[in-house]
Amino acid sequence: MNILILGSGGREHTFAYKIAQSLKCKKLYVAPGNAGTSEIAENLEVNPIDFAAVANTALEKDINMIVVGPEDPLVKGIVDYFKKDERLKDIQIIGPSGRGALLEGSKERAKEFMAMYDIPTAAYESFSFESLGAGKKFLETLKPPYVLKADGLAAGKGVLIIDDLEEAKKELENMLSGKFGAASKKVVIEEFLDGIELSVFVLTDGKNYKILPTAKDYKRIGEGDTGLNTGGMGAVSPVPFADADFMNKIEERIVKPTVIGLKEEAIDYKGFIFIGLIKVNGEPYVIEYNVRMGDPETEVVLPRIKTDLVDLLEKTWESKLDEIELEVDKRAATTVMLVSGGYPESYEKGKTISGLKEIDNSIVFHAGTKLKDGNIVTSGGRVIALTSFGENYKEALKKSYQSAEKLQFDKMYFRKDIGFDLS
Ligand code: ATP
Repeated sequence: MNILILGSGGREHTFAYKIAQSLKCKKLYVAPGNAGTSEIAENLEVNPIDFAAVANTALEKDINMIVVGPEDPLVKGIVDYFKKDERLKDIQIIGPSGRGALLEGSKERAKEFMAMYDIPTAAYESFSFESLGAGKKFLETLKPPYVLKADGLAAGKGVLIIDDLEEAKKELENMLSGKFGAASKKVVIEEFLDGIELSVFVLTDGKNYKILPTAKDYKRIGEGDTGLNTGGMGAVSPVPFADADFMNKIEERIVKPTVIGLKEEAIDYKGFIFIGLIKVNGEPYVIEYNVRMGDPETEVVLPRIKTDLVDLLEKTWESKLDEIELEVDKRAATTVMLVSGGYPESYEKGKTISGLKEIDNSIVFHAGTKLKDGNIVTSGGRVIALTSFGENYKEALKKSYQSAEKLQFDKMYFRKDIGFDLS
């Protein structure tokens, strides 16, 4: 098979790494990819949201399967675009249709879906500028802190958690007046849930599903989970507190009704569902759905999957996921993200990365890197994810940190406390 992966981060490098291991993969392309993917695949200068360009490339390169990494093309309807074109409709494109992707593209839609199928989540109401007054009144009925969420995609910045009621009312007004552009034309206000977060990943063909390994990521830039939000500074899989009893609750109360909901609404969904969860007093609640894998969670989830990934994705496309066994590596995996100094605010690019060849105890997944004059240089905020295995997460982390010490680029930074809240 000829396979094309869309995206350019650590997530996509991890997909490329796993797919390249499959005997079924004849030729692998990544668009646009990074310096890491260029070592195991051919990078193509194609923008994943330029559907016509993706389609032309797919035809030109005789692509049989497309794996869509990021949410943007999915929410914009890339799957529908392929399915309605006679020349493209047989390409196995992994990801939900636009209707399916709305579970991530609209928080209001996600909450309505959860209410419809009795999926546990925080109590909420949704407001527009016309109902600003009612929104302020609703805030008065809640206890602090107040959770305000822009309905649409806001690059991970659209959620505000505010302690003070007056400030929350003001921010509600700001959001509805366009603070996040069209994304905050509607705002979901929800009850604050106090607990510990984790993520569960599901691969579904729209009627069958496989629950993939769990993961926990670390979003803030500073140690002890302080400071600004980032795309993610590290991750651990499995999540030690997600024991069999808790996973059973997640499967029965969340995964099954989610897949039933997709089926009942005849939503074409052949892809990943990333369920952001919070554990409150031993019970799971959904915080959000994402319609693709997470980054850096992918860097710890996929390496633990022993089943041939292309086989799994093919079965997904054929709606035969029930015919394949999912085999998971029992060992723990951790990843530590090396980032550019200054990230997630302004940072410099173009710094030469040295020491890559010395790493022998971790898998190096590239995120913001590119090739320049034969050197690998930084080209983004998050630069390299170092994934390691161990009998438990502490052992794995030790290796990720030893590897981090071998790498260098000007102003490199990483968190030294990934997993700090697990023991
Ligand atoms: P992401 O960048 O993860 O995609 P997002 O912008 O889509 O985030 P959410 O995941 O819904 O938004 O919320 C972001 C973060 O805010 C969550 O990871 C969680 O820490 C916190 N959060 C969201 N909803 C709640 C809630 N009801 N109670 C407590 N914390 C919450």
